[in-house]
Amino acid sequence: MAASGTTQSLTGAVYDLVIVGAGIVGLAHAWHAVKAGLRVHIVERDGFAVGASIRNFGHIGTTAQSGRALEFALAAREDWLQVAQAAGTPVTQAGTVVIARTVAELAVLEEFREERGDQAVLLTADETAQLLGFDAPGAVGGAHLALDLRVDPPHAIPALASYLQTLGVTFSYATNVGSIQEGILQTSRGPMRAAAIVIAVGHDLDRLFPQLAARWQIDRCRLRMLEIDTPRGIRIGPAILTGLGLLRYDGLAAQPSAAAVRSDFERLRPQLLEQQVNLMFTQRPDGRLIVGDTHHLSATETPFEDEASDELLLEETRHLFGVDSVTVRRRWRGVYAAGRSDVFVQEQPIPGVWVATVASGIGMTTAFGFAANTISQLISTPLQQPIDAARLPSRP
Ligand SMILES: Cc1cc2nc3c(=O)[nH]c(=O)nc-3n(C[C@H](O)[C@H](O)[C@H](O)COP(=O)(O)OP(=O)(O)OC[C@H]3O[C@@H](n4cnc5c(N)ncnc54)[C@H](O)[C@@H]3O)c2cc1C
Repeated sequence: MAASGTTQSLTGAVYDLVIVGAGIVGLAHAWHAVKAGLRVHIVERDGFAVGASIRNFGHIGTTAQSGRALEFALAAREDWLQVAQAAGTPVTQAGTVVIARTVAELAVLEEFREERGDQAVLLTADETAQLLGFDAPGAVGGAHLALDLRVDPPHAIPALASYLQTLGVTFSYATNVGSIQEGILQTSRGPMRAAAIVIAVGHDLDRLFPQLAARWQIDRCRLRMLEIDTPRGIRIGPAILTGLGLLRYDGLAAQPSAAAVRSDFERLRPQLLEQQVNLMFTQRPDGRLIVGDTHHLSATETPFEDEASDELLLEETRHLFGVDSVTVRRRWRGVYAAGRSDVFVQEQPIPGVWVATVASGIGMTTAFGFAANTISQLISTPLQQPIDAARLPSRP
């Protein structure tokens, strides 16, 4: 960072970098910035982070990524192991089991194994049942993606924020950022100054930079999630993916037999494709099972939830576990940024102001790797203009 980089906020504190948003993308940027020696402050509009980062499965699904996402995910995996241990939040290293229930699904896993070698271990139906602790009716085999990790988001995100505080990162919660100019943030508690700014506001990027969000073709993706008592009280180590996941994760969806998986669903269960279901499960530390999810894209979310979506997820869950009923304990909606032009939205719309958005449902998996990339660019880019105190707006 340029020598002119360190400036003062109006409260007198000294920051090199202010990050907007305390979700996983903001926290990951803060961690890499602190490691690079920057003094970091995070501004979050809510009393604590309640966005996508605490509403997800906590699935660090490294293996099924491809391209740049895989590069970021592999780096992020190492970061998660290190940071989570330091922050005192558990990471489960049991991988993911993908259950195959058709010949086409098994073929995708075989093709993936061919490409990735030991990262994917093929399983017989018996081995699949053994790893999961239950027999999924109709399973013909599966694969174990051993690299994948799992965290518990409602615990992990606050734990990471607390850990960052021990490293000197400071936070302004319940503080909304309304607009940003070079070196200046207008917040609901008055203006704030920073040498560099990272915008990590997830799907609300259009509120601050509407044209940029439009150029990157970012929509909101709305998802339904449920938490149930795990059928028969079983403990399940790995995360569970099913055939629908073979159509969703780039590394799997690129395999030749994915087309046959899609046409099987089109023929037999078209409603799952209509609701864009990715039937998957992770078990929380208290034994409950997170079940999800449906996907609906739009610029503005409808407030209305369709009961048919939940019933579809529950029907598929009962079928997979071979039970007649399940007990639902909680339901919620999640929203993430979904980009049609690229997953990793990273640009400097104003000198010294960096936008960093993971525009797909893989932010828990990739944010740390992505953040390392932004911070390394940020610290090697000199600020074009030093902060000019005369341009500071007065406190409202
Ligand atoms: C239901 C669901 C399941 C998912 N499952 C997985 C999974 O298992 N694995 C995986 O890798 N990914 C998963 N994802 C995706 C992942 O959760 C997201 O990619 C990731 O959490 C995005 O992080 P973020 O920090 O950008 O967004 P958020 O967590 O939404 O954080 C953005 C923060 O910015 C704050 N903010 C916004 N505007 C302002 C403002 N103007 N001023 C101040 N603060 C502001 C918000 O309050 C919020 O706290 C899932 C997402 C959902 C919704």
